[in-house]
Amino acid sequence: MRVSDWKKDVIKPSEIDKYLVDGKDFICEETINKKIKEGENPSDQYIEQIIDKALSVKTLAPEETAALLNVTSEEMWHKIFDAALELKKKVYDNRIVFFAPLYCSNLCVNNCEYCGFREKNCTEKRAILSPEEVKRETKSVLNEGHKRLIMVFGEHPKSDIDYMIESIKAVYEVQEKAPNSGKETNIRRVNINAAPMSIDKLKRLKETDIGTYQVFQETYHRETYSQVHPMNTLKGDYRWRLYALHRAMDAGLDDVAIGALFGLYDWKFEVMGLLYHTLDLERRYGVGPHTISFPRITPASGSDLSENLPYQVSDQDFKKIVAVLRLSVPTAGLIITAREKPELKREVIKLGCTQTDASTRIGIGGYSDQINQDTEQFTIGDPRDLDDVIQEILKEGFIPSFCTAGYRCGRTGETIMGMLSHCVEGKFCKLNGVLTFREYLYDYASKETKKLGEAVIAKELSEIHQEPYFIDRPKLVKKFDQQYNDILIGKRDRYI
Ligand code: SAM
Ligand code: SF4
Repeated sequence: MRVSDWKKDVIKPSEIDKYLVDGKDFICEETINKKIKEGENPSDQYIEQIIDKALSVKTLAPEETAALLNVTSEEMWHKIFDAALELKKKVYDNRIVFFAPLYCSNLCVNNCEYCGFREKNCTEKRAILSPEEVKRETKSVLNEGHKRLIMVFGEHPKSDIDYMIESIKAVYEVQEKAPNSGKETNIRRVNINAAPMSIDKLKRLKETDIGTYQVFQETYHRETYSQVHPMNTLKGDYRWRLYALHRAMDAGLDDVAIGALFGLYDWKFEVMGLLYHTLDLERRYGVGPHTISFPRITPASGSDLSENLPYQVSDQDFKKIVAVLRLSVPTAGLIITAREKPELKREVIKLGCTQTDASTRIGIGGYSDQINQDTEQFTIGDPRDLDDVIQEILKEGFIPSFCTAGYRCGRTGETIMGMLSHCVEGKFCKLNGVLTFREYLYDYASKETKKLGEAVIAKELSEIHQEPYFIDRPKLVKKFDQQYNDILIGKRDRYI
């Protein structure tokens, strides 16, 4: 099929219109601007009330998020930062989940001004992985110790739904022996970051057994959106993208992830956009986003915009973004990626992030070096290996986790949201964090990581045997002890 014919069939207007309310979107710029304006000069007492509400694990109202965004006193920001970590520990315990991105193709029909993959970027070498190459990449990622992948695709007929399904299957087929123990291992959950799709395609994606489907709106501000996404491209359609995750929900994919790309427009506006997106998903489906991402633009090949940002976000404001999102949507996981430098990642992990990537390579074929490296989408700030990042996390007192139990035990959608808001899921996070990190220590860890890791595991085990929540649930603890002992005697892939 010719690319131009394929393009004509991608966007289904009827799968946009049905989500409008009285012809309008859930993003109303006038309302957002008004809320931000009205939230100026919040009293300390009001901010403390908002913090208390967030700590009771309730999604904030727009005026409350707007008030947080308007805080100016250093002292109050410190209170917000402290509350963000407290809330994260309450909902998700002290684990950090690790994943690796797998870039499958950089062919793209769009022309997003900030992205190295855009069609008009002649400096980019184009590549699309074959199933065999996908398998080679998967083996390399498995050799690092990862169990969770996010597969990333440009938007192109050659990387459309059939290709995605073929690539996902290729990943799930790979079995590899762990370097330290020789135990068989495999990728246990594949998440997807791909362009908006029709409900029919999303239903097919669901059948492949993916975890989370992620689409970033990039910017919620319409005028900025059309400046950076030319109108004559598929991505130029703001509304097709705005309802991408509503369609996913309707296709039965109840585990969705939102995000905004920071640097294009005012950060306060984008945080409000993410909140309104969350509220609309919660209102319609009873389930908010599983995760929220907040990538900052980094330099991309051939993109002037990426090096001269109209709304550059400083490190200090970036920390505010993370903390305000943490308090605004207590049940959502927050993802900090290798776009950021190690020092800043270290700081924001302590503001309530729940997931991060490591040993990240974003060139097509970048893990196994099969294909030329001039294929990256943007530059990354943290190329460190998984083992190095794990050491750092351990020194900060967090436990690294490779848990994929939620997806595999049916704890997704409404079920997981209920468990998160009642602070029950965090208990499972703790148990599964220990089980999966136990495996990592045996199968992959360096000597130094083992030393640090054993101490953290010992601390976690004593908490599991002493915390009142667990003392009241002897059956759960017995099951956990059994799973843990299974791993000690050489079994693998134990989870609760
Ligand atoms: N083509 C799909 C789409 O547009 O939805 C997949 C997305 S792209 C490969 C993944 C994400 O990378 C984009 O949604 C965007 O937010 C982010 N991104 C693009 N260019 C970037 C840059 N220069 N720096 C940081 N992030 C960038
Ligand atoms: Fe293509 Fe996505 Fe990059 Fe835009 S952000 S050019 S759609 S890969």
